[in-house]
Amino acid sequence: MRPFRYERPTDAQSAVALLSEHRGATALAGGTNLVDLMKLGVATPDVVVDVSGLPLDAVDPLDGGGLRIGTNVRNADLAAHPLVRSDYPVLARALLSGASPQLRNLATTGGNLLQRTRCVYFQDVTTPCNKREPGTGCSAIGGYTRYHAVFGHSVDCIATHPSDMAVALAALEATVVVLGVDGERRIPATEFHRLPGGEPHRDTVLERDELIVAVELPPPVPGAVSTYRKVRDRASFAFAIVSVAAHLTIDDGVVTDARIACGGVAHKPWRARRAEEVITGRAATTAAFAEAADAELAIAASVDGNEFKPALLRRTMIAVLRDLTAQAGERGAAGATGEDPR
Ligand code: SF4
Repeated sequence: MRPFRYERPTDAQSAVALLSEHRGATALAGGTNLVDLMKLGVATPDVVVDVSGLPLDAVDPLDGGGLRIGTNVRNADLAAHPLVRSDYPVLARALLSGASPQLRNLATTGGNLLQRTRCVYFQDVTTPCNKREPGTGCSAIGGYTRYHAVFGHSVDCIATHPSDMAVALAALEATVVVLGVDGERRIPATEFHRLPGGEPHRDTVLERDELIVAVELPPPVPGAVSTYRKVRDRASFAFAIVSVAAHLTIDDGVVTDARIACGGVAHKPWRARRAEEVITGRAATTAAFAEAADAELAIAASVDGNEFKPALLRRTMIAVLRDLTAQAGERGAAGATGEDPR
């Protein structure tokens, strides 16, 4: 590991000032990804700004509903938070499907959003990789692509974003709050991560000297149901081959609102807007869900080695939407008998 300077600021403004002053600075929170990348020689910061001690580790209800989640809230604590479990089950499920209990105890909300791709070539400094070293090429094209993209990729990079949490946040229409030298700005979670285009080294729209300070969730939608399903090679401690986060409102058997996001298939959480459009206003039937999945997959483009992914995503999306329809039906039945519909 290369030598680096270590700083431990006590407030967020000082952390931002350090990031701004030093071009080669990077923020460290739980360290569950950054430290690995430093050991591998993939990340070589000159200055490490340890933000894990900043007092940004609370989950607070927002005026008017919703939650503000401090950037340093640990993944395990967030998944176990009573309001997250009751009002945002898609988020709790996504968090619990990620990594291992040990890692979730350490990984933070902000760090989870900023984790890097697990493309094997990105992590191997002996191979060309445009994300790690712009202009060197993409070893994954024509290589091992099981975990790679089928939506939105470019000739320069076909990597996927590995976060489960970020997929749920995209479906929930959360907001990422960041602090820079000029103050705070708010970024919709769906626009926080970017597609690779010709600049795959840029994972997000976060500027070099900005710090994530919080994630905000909108108020829960009355009557809505949500869940997250992840398909992976083993039951735990594995990244998604594909995943689906969905948040549906079904009224009298008709889908009145649909938000669907997919993981493991793009450089960012992939919001399935075409599928959403197809099912909104339609009866919640398997036929409609299949049509919706097909509409989204019409723009999928697999690469050599991951041709199985569109069909797998199709089945997963339909299964999730059917599960949620059943859940909405049970809630309706429980509500009619006066039981707590949760
Ligand atoms: Fe690098 Fe992206 Fe290609 Fe992987 S897919 S080798 S991260 S450029």
